[in-house]
Amino acid sequence: MSATKPSNPTICILGCGGFIGSHLLERILSATECTVYGIDIQSSKIGHLLSNDRLTFVNLNVYDTESVAKYVHASDIVISLVALCNPALYNTIPLEVIDINFNRPYELLRMCAEEEKWLVHFSTSEVYGKTLAGFAQCNLAKDHPDNYVLNEDSTPLILGPVHAQRWSYACAKQLLERVIYAYGFEKGLKYTVVRPFNFIGPRMDYIPGIDGEGVPRVLACFMEALLFHKPLWLVDGGLNKRVFTYIDDAVDALMAILENPKTSQGEIFNIGNPANEISIARLARRMVGIYKVLRPGLASCDFTIKAVSSHEFYGKGYEDSDRRVPDISKIQECTGWRPHTDIDTALRKTIQSYIEHYARDAECREAG
Ligand code: NAD
Ligand code: UDP
Repeated sequence: MSATKPSNPTICILGCGGFIGSHLLERILSATECTVYGIDIQSSKIGHLLSNDRLTFVNLNVYDTESVAKYVHASDIVISLVALCNPALYNTIPLEVIDINFNRPYELLRMCAEEEKWLVHFSTSEVYGKTLAGFAQCNLAKDHPDNYVLNEDSTPLILGPVHAQRWSYACAKQLLERVIYAYGFEKGLKYTVVRPFNFIGPRMDYIPGIDGEGVPRVLACFMEALLFHKPLWLVDGGLNKRVFTYIDDAVDALMAILENPKTSQGEIFNIGNPANEISIARLARRMVGIYKVLRPGLASCDFTIKAVSSHEFYGKGYEDSDRRVPDISKIQECTGWRPHTDIDTALRKTIQSYIEHYARDAECREAG
């Protein structure tokens, strides 16, 4: 495909049944006339889309490379979302994490290069690792933007040592970015790499024991605590900060990329809302406050917020990113995109969706 825009391209979305995939699929089907091959091993989050004539859902494991190749061949654009992307896995099953985040998408990018397809690959803001101040464990001009505003093309990527296996995911994603870049450089691969900054919204992750097992990402951990009256755990005191980006803004960014192949191909883009930075400790308090407003019957309930060591919570080999705020000037210039949803609105909409989705489970547990 050239850098010009075909009117209704065929899009192959690998990982269409996940959190981001489900929202992106929904939008592509509702806002365009594109035909989609959606690949995933689960479809519970996209049940409402399966009857759409323009969607062919393929229940397929990406380890079946031959079958994946057929759908890549039949498409113009390939969007790669499949991953194990939950920090609780990085230091507990690092081999699987590295395999699915490096080896599988490596196969995919080779197919895209050979077939001259546009690969839109989901990397991660985790590739930045720690900030310079975090790395030096000091206050190194902590509030100077150069030390925490992360730019795609100039900020160094700072990961911890090999035995700190938390970085297995970030390192696999980073190496893949380097291979994608090299394929663009040497073999003319048409690619766009995106680095999401903590997207949140309906359908994110799962509640342990209800529709998944293990430790999900922080938003779902705190929702489990709120819905089922458990403590909200602050890992290492919750001092680290994140930028939380509402999923509708994130999908707007992806649509803007797809709409602008000329300015998006050959680029790496941060996607995040720099105005939405918050420490995890403040996030916990903010979520308790919003939850009580949305469930006035629980206004007098005490929700416990407790500190826990990362070693106790995640096990050996866990380290953390201290702070990550995206520079989004490049994606703004290339596509015109900018985020609109402030942190309170993003949290309110997300919390409301969890309340509605898990209301029956919460009632059953309360009754039993
Ligand atoms: P998700 O876990 O909700 O979605 C991943 C999907 O991949 C799931 O539906 C899963 O069933 C599917 N999958 C896993 N193994 C598979 C296999 N072997 N074959 C076929 N399908 C398989 O994750 P998400 O939050 O939607 O993230 C999507 C992408 O964005 C990932 O690449 C992730 O690394 C990246 N990312 C997301 C965020 C975020 O804030 N959500 C942040 C940084 C990076
Ligand atoms: N975290 C926490 N309590 C939890 C889950 C996570 O304090 O119950 C912290 C975690 O240590 C990290 C931040 O919240 O500092 C964000 O974690 P998440 O799993 O959402 O993903 P990350 O941004 O680290 O990839």
